[in-house]
Amino acid sequence: MATTPASIVIVEDEPDIADLLALYFRRESWDVTLCDNADRALDVIRSRQPDFVILDIGLPGERDGLDVCRELRMTSNVPVLFLTARDDEIDRILGLELGADDYVTKPFSPREVVVRAKAILRRGASTQETIKRVDFGSISVDLERHEVTVDGEPITLAAQEFALLEHLVSNVGIVLSREQILAGAWGPDWIGDIRTVDVHVRQLRRKLGDDLPVATVRGTGYRLG
Ligand code: CA
Repeated sequence: MATTPASIVIVEDEPDIADLLALYFRRESWDVTLCDNADRALDVIRSRQPDFVILDIGLPGERDGLDVCRELRMTSNVPVLFLTARDDEIDRILGLELGADDYVTKPFSPREVVVRAKAILRRGASTQETIKRVDFGSISVDLERHEVTVDGEPITLAAQEFALLEHLVSNVGIVLSREQILAGAWGPDWIGDIRTVDVHVRQLRRKLGDDLPVATVRGTGYRLG
């Protein structure tokens, strides 16, 4: 089960629809973020890391909701529910096999959308296996027990170092900015120099050795794997 309150990003350019959906989801204690165009959608979704995404297909700008989903799917399995205005859009959703979890056609009942979103989250929670252990060459990370070994030898990590490692492991293959790492690993209220991330990454490299596949992404941040 997703942690409560669940979080959602709603990408919809029609303010009336966006506000109505926001109202219904907030009533159910969801943490709602609105976005009204395709170009900002990916940034918003990546920084918020929501449990659920609602994506309108017809969006202003060069890209539509389908483009956003296509790009999103390269790095994320977050459930996506599409809003469509026309039948031919449904054909395109199904034809492209974008990994959409559901769609609703306008006009729709916001209550129905909330019910469907909850059902999709429940379904995901029952089938999704939680990652408990990850191996990188000689390195083994047990996320449940908070234990890390290199060649079978236990390594002592400070709490912040482990939190950083855990955050990187949960986002394998994704380029994370230092800001995202700060908020994701140590919480949104963490206050400190952004270079702390570099210090801790350096510590992880030193303690875990060359098998740790952390890449420095120039001008951005870091990527694991
Ligand atoms: Ca629209």
